[in-house]
Amino acid sequence: MAVQQVFPLSCAVQHYAWGKMGSNSEVARLLASSDPQARISEDKPYAELWMGSHPRGDAKILDNRISQKTLGQWISENQDCLGSKVKDTFNGKLPFLFKVLSVETALSIQAHPNKELAEKLHLQAPQHYPDANHKPEMAIALTSFQGLCGFRPVEEIVTFLTKVPELRFLIGDNATAQLKGSTSSDSQVAASALQSCFSHLMKSEKNVVVEQLSLLVKRISQQAAAGNNMEDICGELLLQLHQQYPGDIGCFAIYFLNLLTLKPGEAMFLEANVPHAYLKGDCVECMACSDNTVRAGLTPKFIDVPTLCEMLSYIPSKDRLFLPTRSQEDPYLSVYDPPVPDFTVMKMEVPGSITEYKVLAVDSASILLVVQGRVTASSPTAQTPIPLQRGGVLFIGANESVSLKLTVPEDLLLFRACCLL
Ligand SMILES: [Zn+2]
Repeated sequence: MAVQQVFPLSCAVQHYAWGKMGSNSEVARLLASSDPQARISEDKPYAELWMGSHPRGDAKILDNRISQKTLGQWISENQDCLGSKVKDTFNGKLPFLFKVLSVETALSIQAHPNKELAEKLHLQAPQHYPDANHKPEMAIALTSFQGLCGFRPVEEIVTFLTKVPELRFLIGDNATAQLKGSTSSDSQVAASALQSCFSHLMKSEKNVVVEQLSLLVKRISQQAAAGNNMEDICGELLLQLHQQYPGDIGCFAIYFLNLLTLKPGEAMFLEANVPHAYLKGDCVECMACSDNTVRAGLTPKFIDVPTLCEMLSYIPSKDRLFLPTRSQEDPYLSVYDPPVPDFTVMKMEVPGSITEYKVLAVDSASILLVVQGRVTASSPTAQTPIPLQRGGVLFIGANESVSLKLTVPEDLLLFRACCLL
């Protein structure tokens, strides 16, 4: 008999301190919905759900007819399920990790190295850079999702330098003048002026940062208490970040990086060397399998300011939304296909009036998450139909066709990660 290529997974939860608490967290809500046995602790953060075969959170197979216990074990013994190109290109491993994130407090200001830099950093400091792979990431909002992404247009930064003297103090008059003078120059001059300003900021002495930040916090608080709107200098966000990370240089980074509030279904793609930070909200995230992150603020973890300032793409741009394309073959399918080989994410929104929906067969192993709706899944190799509801996660082997029967007339919302080479 053919090897069963489709089966449900029980996925690992990571309780990092920055996660949303208890049932405020979408991670916890998905978990509670898919597994009636799950007990949600209201005093515990539910930060991430890992849907993949990463050794620190290898998904368990929820089918006791299958002898392997975890997805990682199963893939290593059934390599053809990856798809022939994926198997060869990524040495028999699933190339991506698919996640749900529920963010309560900001994650660090960070960027991920490209492959070349990742190899170099890993050689030099393997304790901080545990592997030699790049780590492109994509976040698609499930709820309103706030993050920082890429450098703002220079004009915006210049305006903040005028309106926020505490910021200008840290950057200094020379670098400030250089940036102001660069607005009409070519992009290389602007990039180097931007690098100089950002580096001055990030390399400021700790005590000076603490001092200027407390002046700014005091000024914003007083103005806000007097009824003045401080949104032109992101007053509310500054106070919020300062409360989470008092005295942290990362609080000032909001004046350099674009602030994005994604609506459900909107996405940002974090290619190599783009500075970013997730601030608040719930999203699905897909990334290449790697741990290489260079951090420079809003974190108690190891920070490496010189490497970060050196590696970043100093390309100012307002345009940071990553747009999906509508499938020609399937009217319910949107495809988020970033310019990296490691992963693609698909979103399927199927109206509840449809009784049966066919999931497109692709030449790649994939992982399917049910965010809304209730179905039974069947496939040529599955022995019995698999019931799935909100929070359910399904592994689908390469080239396997899966049919979903809607068991209630409720709209379906599904996300699927795969690797289209
Ligand atoms: Zn990141």
